[in-house]
Parts: sequence; structure tokens; C-alpha cells
Amino acid sequence: MTFKDLKLIQPLLTALDKIGYTEPTPIQKQSIPPLLEGRDIFGCAQTGTGKTAAFALPILQLLDSKKGQQPGRRTIKTLVLAPTRELALQIAENFKEYSLHLDISFTTIFGGVSQVNQVKDLQRGVDILIATPGRLLDLMQQGYIKLNDIKIFVLDEADRMLDMGFIHDIKKVIAKLPAQRQTMFFSATAAPDIMKLANTLLKDPVRVAVTPVSTTAELVGQKVYYVSKNNKKHLLKQVLETEKIDHVLVFTRTKHGADKVAKDLSKAGIKAEAIHGNKSQGARERALKGFKDRTIHVLVATDIASRGIDVDKLSHVINFEIPEVAETYVHRIGRTGRAGSTGIAISFCMEEELPYWKGILKLTQQDIEVVKDHAYAENISADRPMASAPKNGEAKKSQGKSNNGWRGGRKSFHKPKSFQSKA
Ligand code: AMP
Repeated sequence: MTFKDLKLIQPLLTALDKIGYTEPTPIQKQSIPPLLEGRDIFGCAQTGTGKTAAFALPILQLLDSKKGQQPGRRTIKTLVLAPTRELALQIAENFKEYSLHLDISFTTIFGGVSQVNQVKDLQRGVDILIATPGRLLDLMQQGYIKLNDIKIFVLDEADRMLDMGFIHDIKKVIAKLPAQRQTMFFSATAAPDIMKLANTLLKDPVRVAVTPVSTTAELVGQKVYYVSKNNKKHLLKQVLETEKIDHVLVFTRTKHGADKVAKDLSKAGIKAEAIHGNKSQGARERALKGFKDRTIHVLVATDIASRGIDVDKLSHVINFEIPEVAETYVHRIGRTGRAGSTGIAISFCMEEELPYWKGILKLTQQDIEVVKDHAYAENISADRPMASAPKNGEAKKSQGKSNNGWRGGRKSFHKPKSFQSKA
């Protein structure tokens, strides 16, 4: 697929050609067409996936198509919020490259520097404003910025925004945005607090999730074990033993669950530690160091705590509990098979988790091997009708029927419009 196939206009194609992009990345392929149609988007993607172009290109095209409709001084029609000055500048750099052959203006505002030049730029009139939350609010309060004409709102790296404590600032900005607008929401994770914010902002969004580029599809094997809740701890010990796994990140949904798994393993003589938000910084650092040094073999983590873990060549991840939000699964398994090494993602699914598991199968459209031959096998399956159907409706097809698997050496998923998160 080429950028032309995505129906981008010639001035953008010429600019992309000059920069040397030959093929759209998975997130670009999946995001650009619905964004050009005016849809909202929830994009679960990190930096490095090409997400900036995924939103910047459609924004430029949409603004270009409406050019001339507003006589007089330019007013801000697109607001891009970024957590840091560095990211804001990077986004602006992308807009600059892509808009080379278009008559669209933009400016960047961020704190820590004098506002004089930023105000001058704003007074000249811009189509696109790229801003960090603090300075944006400051200049709004001083009356230099009005958001009445905003047609497109982008929230980039929403997870970092929340980590950095910007939630109140973001809410103040959102309150000033017109209700009638297109919203593009990007986050590296789909943790519950992120989903909550996304749900307040987005209307019937297209959902797109891609894993970091460093992980290639062919390098991650995925398996699921169906097992009862009580047998999960036994199965974990057995899998660690039989698969000879001595360096693994185990995911749980809760802090309490993480502690319990680590305790059970320790009791069985397996060197394990849990990391989560209730642990002190010191305890977390010690656990991480131990895991890196391989004196700790199993690190048990909640999704939020796992964000800071950057361990090369992680051979295995185990989903001791299935995440409620399907994109979290994609993010978890993105931690394995790093740097060209083989990775295996193993999931333990109990009956109560089947709705979540089905959501994952639907999102990933992947062949995931079902391991049937194990001591704690439960007679359940993602194909079997369940007593209570999940709210989002069921994926009719399950494993093994995919024609939309890993593509282009990167993992890319597209969740159909009908999918609603349960977070
Ligand atoms: P991002 O994830 O937006 O930070 O992009 C990561 C890097 O990939 C940036 O340096 C982009 O310029 C580059 N990039 C984005 N899209 C493409 C593409 N289709 N082909 C090649 N490079 C790209």
C-alpha cells in the first residue's frame, strides 16, 4: 500500500516523497482513511510507530479542503496538546515537513520561555496550534487564545499527560472546546484512567493499536492456557518448570494479585518480586535491578508499574490475568521479543475472563495457540457460547481464521467500529 492509496492529496504526496517515506506504517494505514472521513480515533501507539504523521497528514488535508471558507484573519482550527516541550517541537517539525506545499500555518507554545514571541505568532493568526497544557491555559486566561473555532482536537501521549499530573489542566482546556469537533486521542497504554478520559472525549471512535516497531510479529509466539482461577498458581509453577523459563515478566491486573503471585512463587523456592504503585521507589528499584541482574527470575507487575521496565531481550511474558482492555494485551506482549530475539507471550484465561479474551482475539485477529495438553486444563474455549455475553457483542470468529495478521514486519491491529471498551 502506498500513501496515494490512502487518498492523500498531491501536495502531501510530494512532501512525503521528498522526505523519503515510501510506505505508510501500520498506524498510518489504519488511521488516515477514517480520519479523512471525520471520525474520532483512539490510537494506542508509542513514539516510533509513525503516529505523528498518522494524525498530522489527515489534519493538513482536512484543513486544506476547508480553506477559503473563513475570510479574514486565520483562527485556530486545530489544537494539538502534547505533554512536553520536546514533543510539541517534534510534532511541529513534522507539520512543517508535511505542509511544505500547502498554505497552512501553525505555531508552537510551551512554558519555560518568554511568551512574547509566542503571542506575536498567535496575533498573526494560525490554523494549527501545538501546545503544552500549562502555557496554553496561561495564554487563554490572558485572552490571547480562543478555542471557539476548533474543529480538530488532538491529545497526544495522553498517558504521559496523566503521569505528569496534567489531568486538571486538560479538563479545563476540554471545557472550552466546541462540542462539535473531531477528536484524536493517542496513548501508549490503555490503562483504566486513560480509557475513562478517552470515553469522555471521543464519539464512536475508530480504535487502532500498534506495538512498538522494535517488536516484529514473527518473533512473538502467543499461547493461551484455559485454566480455573484456583489452578493458575499451580499452572504458573508448572509452566516455568516445563518451559524452563527463568526470566519472565508476569502481569496481573491488581496490586494485590501481584503480591500474591510473587509470594506463592517465593514459597515454592522461585526467586520472584512484585512491583506496583504501593511499593516504595527503593523497593521498586531493587526489584528491577535484581531482575536485570537475573538474581530475580520472575518479576510480577501491574500494567502501570510495568511501564518503567525496560529490559532487553525479554524472552517471555505471562499474562497471569487477562487484561480487561484489549489494547493492554498488545502493549504487554510488546515487551517480549525485543531487539530481534524470539519472544513468547503466554496467557492464562479462566472462564470469567473469556469476554476479555474474546475482545483480544477480535482486536488482534491473531492465531493464538491453545495449549490443551496440561495438567490443569479446563474445558472452556473462546468459541463456546457463554452464559452471559459481554456488552460489546461477540467476535464470531476466533483463532485460526485470520487473514489480517501481522503485516509489514510490525504488529498492527484494527478494531472494528462496533467494539466498545469495557474499562
Ligand atoms: P513518530 O512515531 O511519529 O514519532 O515517528 C517516528 C519516526 O518515523 C519519525 O522520525 C518519522 O519521521 C518517521 N516516519 C513516520 N512515518 C514514516 C513512514 N511512513 N516511513 C518512514 N518513516 C516514517
